[in-house]
Amino acid sequence: MPSTREPYLTAKLQGFGTTIFAEMSMLAVATDSINLGQGFPDTDGPREILDAAIDAINSGLNQYPPGPGMAVLREAIAAHQSRFYGVDYRPGDEVLVTAGATEALAGALLGMLDTGDEVLVFDPMFDSYAPCIALAGAVARTVLLRPPTYAFDPDELRAAVTSKTKLILLNTPHNPTGRVFTMAEMQCIADLAIERDLIVVTDEVYEHLAFDGAPHISMAALPGMRDRTLTISSGGKTFNTTGWKIGWLCGPAPLVQAARTAKQFLTYVNGGPFQPAIALGLGLPDSFFHDVAANLQAKRDRLLPGLLDAGFIVYPTGGTYFVTVDIRPLQPDGDGMAFCRALPHHCGVVAIPNEVLYANKAEGRHLVRFAFCKQLSVIDEAVARLKTLGNRAH
Ligand code: PMP
Ligand code: GLN
Repeated sequence: MPSTREPYLTAKLQGFGTTIFAEMSMLAVATDSINLGQGFPDTDGPREILDAAIDAINSGLNQYPPGPGMAVLREAIAAHQSRFYGVDYRPGDEVLVTAGATEALAGALLGMLDTGDEVLVFDPMFDSYAPCIALAGAVARTVLLRPPTYAFDPDELRAAVTSKTKLILLNTPHNPTGRVFTMAEMQCIADLAIERDLIVVTDEVYEHLAFDGAPHISMAALPGMRDRTLTISSGGKTFNTTGWKIGWLCGPAPLVQAARTAKQFLTYVNGGPFQPAIALGLGLPDSFFHDVAANLQAKRDRLLPGLLDAGFIVYPTGGTYFVTVDIRPLQPDGDGMAFCRALPHHCGVVAIPNEVLYANKAEGRHLVRFAFCKQLSVIDEAVARLKTLGNRAH
C-alpha cells in the first residue's frame, strides 16, 4: 500500500491503492508468466451452463432483469440452500441476486453499518472486506488465524467483541488460508453471536470447494442462527464463471432489505442472460458438485508436493483455490511483497503476497499464496519453474 496521500481519493480509501489482483495479473501478462496469483480457473465449466447463457442472449433476455434478480434464479438459490443445508428461504423477499459476492458483501456492509460500528473479522481476509468496512465508516476488529492450521483462539474471539460490535464477518472455506472451519469453531462463533446479539455475514463462495470429505458448514444451518445470518455466495467458483459475476445473498427479510437498499444504488442489477444459466447450474445433480471438489483436490495434490520440492514451507489447505507458503527458506529476509514482485522476472510465475490481505501486516509478511485452479500441465510447468529458484544465490 502506498504511504503517500492520493490527492483526489476520499480519506476513507487512503492507503487502499490498486488491488493486488489487478497489479499481479497485469504483471503476469506483461512478463508472459503463469498466473497462480488471482484465483480464476483456466478451463470452462459445464457446457450446458454456457449454452444456457448463449440461449438466453439469443432469446432476447438482454434488458434489465428485475431489481432483486430473476425469479428463476432466486428460486434456484432458495432450492440450493434447502437441498444442501436444510435452510429454507422465501425467494420473494429473502433472496437477492448481486453482481458477484463482491457486491453482496458491499451491499451488506454499506447497508447495515453505521459510523463507529465495529465488525469482528478474521485476519487475513479477502481484499474487499477492509475497504468496504472503511467506506461504511465502521471499524474492523481482527482475530488472527495462525499457521500452520490457521485455527483461531476462542478466547481472542470473545475478547474482540465490544459494546460497539454489530456484526461478525466470516469466510469459510477461507481465502487465502484454505481453512475450512470445523463444527466446533462454527458453534463457538454462533454461541458468541447469540450471546452478544450480533449479526453474522458469512461469505461462502467456496462452499462446494472443500476437500478430503470435510463438510462445508453453513452458519445459517446452526440452531438459532438463520434469523441473524446473511449468507453470501456466488456462481463464479462453483461453475468456473468468475467473469460472469453472478452472486447472491440470503437471509431473513429485514437483513436482505438492508443490503438491497445499498445494492440497488451500486449496480441496481447485472448479468441478465447469465442469471438463468447459473439457475440451471445450481440445479445440477449431486455428482456435479462432488466432482468439482474432487477435481480441484487433485490439483491441490499436484501443486503442494511441487511447492515443497521447490523449497517452501507449505501449509495444509482444506478448501478454496489456494495454498499458502512461508518463503523464508528461499528468501531469508521474508519480504513476501518483494518476492512476488520479482518472481515473474526470476522464473515466470505469479503469486500473491499475503501481507496485503492482513490487517496485522507483520503476520503475513513472509507468507505467499499460490492458486491451484489450473490444468495439471500448467501446474507442472509452474513447479518446474519454481524449482529453479533454489539455484539462485540469495
Ligand atoms: N469472497 C471471497 C472469499 C473470494 O475469494 C472472492 C473472490 N472471488 C469473492 C468474495 C468475490 O467473489 P465474486 O467474484 O463472486 O465477486
Ligand atoms: N477471489 C479471487 C482471489 O482471491 C480474485 C478476486 C478479485 O480479483 N477481486 O484471488
